[in-house]
Amino acid sequence: MELWGARFYGDPCRECGFDWSLSPGDAVALVRDVPARYGRLVEGRRGDERHPDLAWNVAAYVSHVTDNLRNWAERLVGARLTDVRAVPGYDPDLLARARGYNEISLAGALWSLRGAAEAWAESVSLALEDGTVLEHAGRGPQRAEDVARNNAHDAVHHAWDIQRILSC
Ligand SMILES: [Zn+2]
Repeated sequence: MELWGARFYGDPCRECGFDWSLSPGDAVALVRDVPARYGRLVEGRRGDERHPDLAWNVAAYVSHVTDNLRNWAERLVGARLTDVRAVPGYDPDLLARARGYNEISLAGALWSLRGAAEAWAESVSLALEDGTVLEHAGRGPQRAEDVARNNAHDAVHHAWDIQRILSC
C-alpha cells in the first residue's frame, strides 16, 4: 500500500509545516484562497525562476497544483454522480512533460488555477455533504475529507517550493 498524507509527510509536514488536523471545511477555505495566496507569492515574478535541486520552475508548480485540483475534483464528481468509485494513481511528472509545464506562461497558469480552485471547492463541498469515498488503486479508501486535506497540503507544500525557488 502506498503511504500518503500525514503518514508519508509527517504531522506537521516535515518540509512545509502543514498541520493535518485542520477540518475538512478549513481545507476547503484554504484551497479557495490558494489563487490569492499564489498571486501574492509570485507578484512581479516571471515564472521561469528555477532552483538547482528542483526540476520544475515557478509556473510549473502553479500548473501542477491546478492539475492536481482538477483531477481530484473530477474524480469526486464521478463517484458522487455515477458511483464509479475506483480511481487509478496518476503520474504528475508524465503530465508535466505532456503539458510542457516549464513553458507555460505564469499569467496563464494563474488564470487556470483560479478556475480549478473554484471548481474544486464546489466538487469537494458536495462530496463532503454526500460522504463520497473513492477507492484508490494504490492508497485504498479515500474519503472526501482525505482528498480535501491532501489537496490542501499539496497547494501549501508547493507554495513552500515556490518560496524556496524565489529565495535562492
Ligand atoms: Zn508539506
